Amino acid sequence: MTKIKTLEGRSKAVDDEVVDALAGAIRGEVFREGSAGYDEARTIWNAMVDRRPGLVVRALGASDVRHAVDFARDNGLLMAIRSGGHQIAGHAVADGALLLDLSKMKSVHVDPGARTARVEPGATLGDVDKETQAHALAVPVGVNSTTGIAGLTLGGGFGWITRKHGMTIDNLVSADLVTADGEFVRASKAENADLFWAIRGGGGNFGVVTSFEFQLHPVGPEVLSGLIVHSLDDAPALLRDFRKIADEAEDDLTVWAVLRQAPPLPFLPEEWHGKDVLVFAACYAGDIADAEKAMAPLRALGNPIADVIAPHPFQGWQAAFDPLLTPGMRNYWKSHDFETLSDAAIKIILDAVRNVPDPACEVFIAHVGGAMARVASDATAYPQRSSHFIMNVHTRWEDASKDGACIAWARKLFDAAAPHSVGSVYVNFMPDDEAGRIPGAYGANMDRLAKVKAKYDPKNLFRLNHNIEPAALARAAE
Ligand code: FAD
Repeated sequence: MTKIKTLEGRSKAVDDEVVDALAGAIRGEVFREGSAGYDEARTIWNAMVDRRPGLVVRALGASDVRHAVDFARDNGLLMAIRSGGHQIAGHAVADGALLLDLSKMKSVHVDPGARTARVEPGATLGDVDKETQAHALAVPVGVNSTTGIAGLTLGGGFGWITRKHGMTIDNLVSADLVTADGEFVRASKAENADLFWAIRGGGGNFGVVTSFEFQLHPVGPEVLSGLIVHSLDDAPALLRDFRKIADEAEDDLTVWAVLRQAPPLPFLPEEWHGKDVLVFAACYAGDIADAEKAMAPLRALGNPIADVIAPHPFQGWQAAFDPLLTPGMRNYWKSHDFETLSDAAIKIILDAVRNVPDPACEVFIAHVGGAMARVASDATAYPQRSSHFIMNVHTRWEDASKDGACIAWARKLFDAAAPHSVGSVYVNFMPDDEAGRIPGAYGANMDRLAKVKAKYDPKNLFRLNHNIEPAALARAAE
């Protein structure tokens, strides 16, 4: 017998023959607790999430996905979906649930003539960049190469070239899904347009995506990019200058601010290691010659400790933050959207950074806007197009005894900054305990999302996510 949790939260004993029949029907594998592969499948990026699923189904193709979805639905089982396993909330794995593991479905196929890529959900951003950059092409994705393309895309997706080429979802041409009733469907502007609208920001609520098709753009292979490191003592004036530069920047230029204790980077003088610093991370998506001119005002600011802006391979730059964002640490993140970075918000952030509970904690301030902001807020499920900055409080630490202090630090900063924010939030940056922010994440698009959910998943089979309840269920609960 294998015990698996039901949708109602009960434990159901499933006969071995039933599980064996599932294993025999798929190309992939089935892992019970204790079998090889079980621990790898349940281990995700955020070490705070240490959960033991009842059964793992490792899919190798869309047919396997359909078998798993049918199995979960027909037996009334709670199902978690794992692709890159990077989501901070850890919805990819749940105690007792059926875990559908897509992490080995990693193929990326580029059509250089059409400038499109077909990507399976288990691909990481690094996998996507490797194949697309072989043709000096790229789709806008995030800034950490080990992140999964699937969760990132379904929540929205933004990074170094978003201001020029839009969010990841703005470059999604189509997606193939297995729906809750086990149907294979394609979502695009021409087919199932309501579903296509909903999956561009609505997360894993509507079905299991087995393939994404992206529009690509010429990028690189080298881009002017790099870090400029300053003392945090100079940050009040520098962040005001950063605000102005960001406000006036052309779409090719993206500058993020990172505030933290300096890691022992080889280009930093040793006496700065461990000291509070402000780092500008900058990337220019277009020609190097234009880039030098566009970055000059940023490089002229203050008295930097180090400036390592130079032409870098785009693929390498996309992984530049990987050493700071390694898997296996405990993580609790908090995020706000800002229209502008007010002086008051700057002061609050600086006060917090001077009092981090662990040297691994940091605050990222992402500069967005540009092409991302020129899409109507109801054109995709992701609504928050007008924000100019997205603050992400990366609270990271290793020792579980620090959980309380670290979580409290993040919440305190989050609460203090709230009056200066828009109130919305990027769903991919929400921790597990923020279910109350889901309406804020979707704003005016919430009702429409609930209706699409009711059409494609009326019984809420796909509920281990930042959940959008089907319209009818939500009404019944009122
Ligand atoms: P998983 O944990 O595998 O999945 C998360 C959830 O997505 C699942 O629980 C499920 O509900 C859903 N899901 C996953 N795959 C599928 C599928 N195939 N079909 C249906 N539903 C599915 N985001 C940005 O936009 N820009 C960034 O620069 C950025 N940087 C990040 C850096 C780090 C270190 C981390 C941890 C996250 C970052 N993110 C960023 C957020 C990232 O987009 C989310 O964590 C995203 O959920 C990761 O996708 P995944 O496939 O790895 O997630």
